[in-house]
Amino acid sequence: MAPSVAENPSPIEKKNVVIIGGSCVAVSSMLTAKKIMPSTHRLIIIEKHSHFHYMFAFPRASVISGWENELFVPYTKMFDSPEKGQTHVELDRSVEGFGTSVEYEYLIYATGARHPEPGNLNDHDTKAGAIQRIKEMQQKIQKATKILLIGGGAVGLELAVEIREHFPEKEVTLVHSRDRYMLSYKYGMHEKSVEILKKFGVRQILGDRANIPEGGFVDDFKMIKVTTKGGKEIECDLQVLCTGMTPQSDLLAKLSPSSINPANRLVKTKPTLQIVDDNFPNIFTAGDVADLEDVKTGGAAWGEADLCMRNICKMIAKPKIQSKELDTHTPMAPQIMLYFGVAKGVVQLKFFGRIFVIDWDFLLKRFFSYNIHASRSWDWLSTPLSKETADL
Ligand SMILES: Cc1cc2nc3c(=O)[nH]c(=O)nc-3n(C[C@H](O)[C@H](O)[C@H](O)COP(=O)(O)OP(=O)(O)OC[C@H]3O[C@@H](n4cnc5c(N)ncnc54)[C@H](O)[C@@H]3O)c2cc1C
Repeated sequence: MAPSVAENPSPIEKKNVVIIGGSCVAVSSMLTAKKIMPSTHRLIIIEKHSHFHYMFAFPRASVISGWENELFVPYTKMFDSPEKGQTHVELDRSVEGFGTSVEYEYLIYATGARHPEPGNLNDHDTKAGAIQRIKEMQQKIQKATKILLIGGGAVGLELAVEIREHFPEKEVTLVHSRDRYMLSYKYGMHEKSVEILKKFGVRQILGDRANIPEGGFVDDFKMIKVTTKGGKEIECDLQVLCTGMTPQSDLLAKLSPSSINPANRLVKTKPTLQIVDDNFPNIFTAGDVADLEDVKTGGAAWGEADLCMRNICKMIAKPKIQSKELDTHTPMAPQIMLYFGVAKGVVQLKFFGRIFVIDWDFLLKRFFSYNIHASRSWDWLSTPLSKETADL
């Protein structure tokens, strides 16, 4: 007999749906679970950070100070009651009520990716530690006079403009290895980005790579000449890496080596978002760690996570379900909003089935948000942002 929802088992008898990684995938899954997960199961999110990191605003927060506390959201109220769910951290040590291991009936592997700081602050587990790191980046940028940004993805582009907008006296050079920006998006995103960076006086070097010394650059503000593969020399006293992401798939690799794509270290998935390993039909994956066609954005992670949770709930309701009865993933059209300082932006949007690239300056004027709409993440986690809650 399938477990009955009506029997409403005690928390001890409940079976666990576990998510490893407490970022976009976990939040979206949690919101779906609140609507559809039966009370026979509870959701457990294992996350090493004490707070949710709202990375979308890290480029601006690396330049402008005074609102860093709004970017780290407490998880404490995300579940209505401890019986409906529980968040735990640091399972590399004993956690009250669990010990060092948590049983799962279903698992969503959502450990995302590492980016160089300040793109993400992977190694800073407390709110105080993460805020301190952002403040250090602000101080570095204030102190430097010639700044080299390496990598022209969304982080490099946004950071370049933020610096020039607030410190027009500083020289900013952006080196990008490809001959165009935003390769996964329409050409218009590249064209508009080039134009805006030009307006802000950012020196742009495309189709070339900066030589990064072994062990990285030393942050001592000495004026040095960084060379490029193409033979250029860039004088700078601060270097910031904005080079892409490294998937965090190592933990899963230990359990299921065959599910890791050796070419990119992403987790191979079936259309149902189960991992490609028939020994583990109960393990799903989504977000930045998943080997999917979607461009890696929070928006794509959100939709994938919702699908994982819907399929898990179908499997809970019908344990002998056939694969073909599960929902399958359709890649999302690439969509993104780039914030170029306080008044400029470029957006790629799908609208009535068509994809558009537009300057969204007029929308920014109307819906300007100094914290890049971080308040919404406080709503997701059921602690609305206010003067009283911002330091929680
Ligand atoms: C600077 C920046 C700006 C961005 N701006 C936007 C934007 O404006 N719009 C947009 O849609 N997307 C944006 N993105 C992309 C978006 O942030 C990611 O696509 C999204 O966060 C992916 O979510 P995720 O849940 O897959 O993984 P991640 O956000 O990478 O999170 C993974 C989580 O897993 C945790 N974790 C990892 N390993 C373990 C472990 N062993 N145990 C416990 N916890 C673990 C990590 O601490 C982390 O919290 C931006 C990205 C960056 C870096």
